[in-house]
Amino acid sequence: MPADRIAVRSDLGDVVPYGAPQLDVPVRLNTNETPYPPPPAFFEQLTKRLVDLDLHRYPDRRAWALRTALGDRFGLPPERVWAAKGSNEILLQVLQAYGGPGRRLLLFRPGYSMYPLLARATLTTTVEVDLDSQLRLDPITARGAVEVYDPDLVFVASPNNPTGIPFTLDAVRALHDGSRALVLLDEAYVEFASCAGDVSAVGLLDELPRLVVCRTFSKAWRLAGARLGYLLAHKWVIDDLRKVRLPYHIDAMVQVAGLVALELADEVTAHIAELARERERLRDAMSAVDGVAVYESAANFLLFRTGVEDLFDRLLARGVLVRDFSRAPRLAGCLRVTVGTPDENDAFLAALKEALGGP
Ligand SMILES: *Cc1c(COP(=O)(O)O)cnc(C)c1O
Repeated sequence: MPADRIAVRSDLGDVVPYGAPQLDVPVRLNTNETPYPPPPAFFEQLTKRLVDLDLHRYPDRRAWALRTALGDRFGLPPERVWAAKGSNEILLQVLQAYGGPGRRLLLFRPGYSMYPLLARATLTTTVEVDLDSQLRLDPITARGAVEVYDPDLVFVASPNNPTGIPFTLDAVRALHDGSRALVLLDEAYVEFASCAGDVSAVGLLDELPRLVVCRTFSKAWRLAGARLGYLLAHKWVIDDLRKVRLPYHIDAMVQVAGLVALELADEVTAHIAELARERERLRDAMSAVDGVAVYESAANFLLFRTGVEDLFDRLLARGVLVRDFSRAPRLAGCLRVTVGTPDENDAFLAALKEALGGP
């Protein structure tokens, strides 16, 4: 008798799926979205444009209008811009095109939890190098890491997740110039960092032929629910990604949503400076609490360390959901909190003080 099920691929047996809890609690500060919905003008335009869509037809496979509009923001032609359903799909496509059996991906620890998962799904070998004791990446460590491991690919997020710490362009250059690898800089949070001056590697693209820069509409652009990300690169990279993408991978509704967001860019991203200010207010207030150490952040979240083992549960019991990293490598005792509205941040601060005050 055949069994009622077949076993999952043997190398996936112990994979734990990505699973930041989606709980219905009053204050949700665990997945780094922006707390403010897109402005009314966005929805007005979007609904107007949706009724004109030919939804009985497949969408534009190349997403040409969207890629053209994205390229215009950076002075790049659409041939050097790629888009997909969230930057996570782009990371997967990059691994499908350049990773796989016999290929090595270099990561830094701590880093974004999806990188190793996507590497495993694509049978890409992962090598991990620890960031320094301050969780920074200096150019010498960067250079040493690529020289020791000779990777085919390097993924690094700046500002980094879960720390919020941005890496210097010198470190990016060291990763590139010391290796033969495709260096993917994940700038999911860069808009929050740019308030304090330009930290983006986009300006290095023409100089560094194997650099690619990945961005998303999920954070500063307030469209996590739409699933849209993009990549800025050289044309040969885009040509390779077309070999692995699914046909019609960005649906027509999301293409329109992206276009409308870009047309209304100033309004859609108007809250960024406020969130950066609120981050600093939250950081100061948290640092003033006894027993709390907060990392510097250029993103819309803060990583902090306390000695209290069950702090995550204590906060949850008070209606505040944050992200638990307390058992992750190098992050013992750490939690991450997303910057919310002033009211949400106050609620978090009150819960934090109460939770640390007693059992
Ligand atoms: C949130 C995040 C993303 C965004 O992923 P999407 O698929 O675009 O929603 C990408 N990289 C990092 C490091 C992130 O934290």
